[in-house]
Amino acid sequence: MFLRLRADAEFYDVCDISAEWLCAHGVRAVALDMDNTIAKYSENEPDARVKAWLRSLEDVGIRAAIVSNTRREARVSAVAGVLGIPYRLGCRKPGKKGFLWAAKTLGVRPDELLSIGDQIFTDVWGAKRAGCKAAIVYPRGMDENPLFRLRRLAERPFIALSRERYGRKVKNG
Ligand SMILES: [Mg+2]
Repeated sequence: MFLRLRADAEFYDVCDISAEWLCAHGVRAVALDMDNTIAKYSENEPDARVKAWLRSLEDVGIRAAIVSNTRREARVSAVAGVLGIPYRLGCRKPGKKGFLWAAKTLGVRPDELLSIGDQIFTDVWGAKRAGCKAAIVYPRGMDENPLFRLRRLAERPFIALSRERYGRKVKNG
């Protein structure tokens, strides 16, 4: 079980994951977590940098979808609409279904799909159960909820096991 909690890589932000790194690691599509990964919990729009980052992936043929546990459809469809990518709500990660749906929808094998998210126990664990790759990022909007910080603290030992680490130094992160 512990191996399934181990991310392939840790990055600070989703935009730090370059198309070059993805290609070098055999990634052909990405399954994006929504809350605190591509948008803060309080935001209904991804920032412009996320949009530009997705374009840089599209340029090399890497496709993307949102795989989210949330049931707030208006919010997810708004973000997915801005980004122009498919989405699935209520995925119940660490369940496998959302990741298998993304692989099928984007036309890749599960092992060619990289899950990108801010939580070990949903985004990494679920992806590994589905046979996908996984990258963990630092949560956007850590300042918005003290619980985020507590959760991150609990995840830290697992994050430290990531195979490759590109995280920027973050105080108490
Ligand atoms: Mg999240």
